[in-house]
Amino acid sequence: MMQEWKRQEIILLFHAVCNNPIESFHSGSDSYPAIITDLAKLFQKPDALVFEKIQHLLYLNTKGKYGKWSGGVRIDRDIFEEFNEDKERLNSVATKIREELLNSVVSYEDIFVDFEEVEAKEIERLQREGWAESYEVGNVSPSTKYCTIKRHDRIPTVSAIAKLRAGFKCEIYGCNYNPFIGLYNIPYVEIHHIKRLADGGEDTLKNIACLCPNHHREIHFDEKKEKLRESLQEKKRQIIWQRILK
Ligand SMILES: [Zn+2]
Ligand SMILES: [Zn+2]
Repeated sequence: MMQEWKRQEIILLFHAVCNNPIESFHSGSDSYPAIITDLAKLFQKPDALVFEKIQHLLYLNTKGKYGKWSGGVRIDRDIFEEFNEDKERLNSVATKIREELLNSVVSYEDIFVDFEEVEAKEIERLQREGWAESYEVGNVSPSTKYCTIKRHDRIPTVSAIAKLRAGFKCEIYGCNYNPFIGLYNIPYVEIHHIKRLADGGEDTLKNIACLCPNHHREIHFDEKKEKLRESLQEKKRQIIWQRILK
């Protein structure tokens, strides 16, 4: 399969080539050097692919036979010409790209949405074409992919209080979820942040609701989520009113 290289990635590779001795790209008998594996992780690409591309860039040469280019493809040569004479700019551009890549966080939700979008299209197609029963579809050894997960530091005491406050019930109005007993003998409910932590939400009791697994999934993904959110607010108001009326 043809793997596409992005300009940003090639700039980072070229930067690595320019700033490290050639020995640092030599692979050991059973492993790739750290500089390769680090970049592979950053690009979410296989080590071998990064290793191969680095080799191309290492031997990229403007003074090949007959004064013509040797090694690399068009985009590699363009980047070489753009940055070879201006290492300062290369450094600053590379630093910026690295920061951007480190911050381009793939969240669990993004992964699910991507997968489910394709899955939904497949369901549509298979229904349209008449699904033929088959056990031959699949992948006996699925490949892996690196994902960067930015996790917020949450306080266990806060979610513990939220669960107690909700009586280990789902706080969606009208839900009669009956929790199973989960880990550590605790009735299983999930913690939901009304304003997502990823959107700057607080890890505080007033921003937390307890939800059953079904409603938690639904509130994040379903078309009805706005209605559910309203219902959640309604429940919150009821709790507050109950306290006021006591
Ligand atoms: Zn949630
Ligand atoms: Zn529920």
